[in-house]
Amino acid sequence: MQYENKPSKFSWGCLGDIDEGRKNLGPDMPVLMYRLFQYTLKDILTREYDEETAGSLYRAAGYLAGTELAKNVLDLSGDFDFFIANLTNKLKELKIGVLRIEKADLNSLSYTFTVSEDLDCSGLPVSGETICDYDEGFLAGILKTYSGHSFTVKEIDCWSTGDRTCRFTATSK
Ligand SMILES: [Zn+2]
Repeated sequence: MQYENKPSKFSWGCLGDIDEGRKNLGPDMPVLMYRLFQYTLKDILTREYDEETAGSLYRAAGYLAGTELAKNVLDLSGDFDFFIANLTNKLKELKIGVLRIEKADLNSLSYTFTVSEDLDCSGLPVSGETICDYDEGFLAGILKTYSGHSFTVKEIDCWSTGDRTCRFTATSK
């Protein structure tokens, strides 16, 4: 990923002590507000740069998020089946989406995943174009942290292309 050789100031601690800071409001907030943040930031990045650059910045941020989530939240100690089961449970628990693995070729390291009720896009207007570039990076970061291999993750179906689920292919680079 393009920013891996530049120093990062991000650490899991940057997210703070949410229990301490939100004693009454708690750790959750509506998906509407998450999307408001995501899509206004993307709009500004698109205006500052262009659509392609905004997409690749989202992919890079998703990659960092996936890497940090894998390190801090996932159990990476088991075999591939255990890893996928743990990942599926966590993505559901964190309300990111409902993950399913459709195809897995463990020899060539190529996979097809679907994510239903995806946090970023489920329910969006149909534009004919896939929109989950953040998720592409997110999955690539998770897979790299677990396996040590670099993956290209591409969204091939999305709510915004008229499909009811997001579908991602992941291939080892
Ligand atoms: Zn999508």
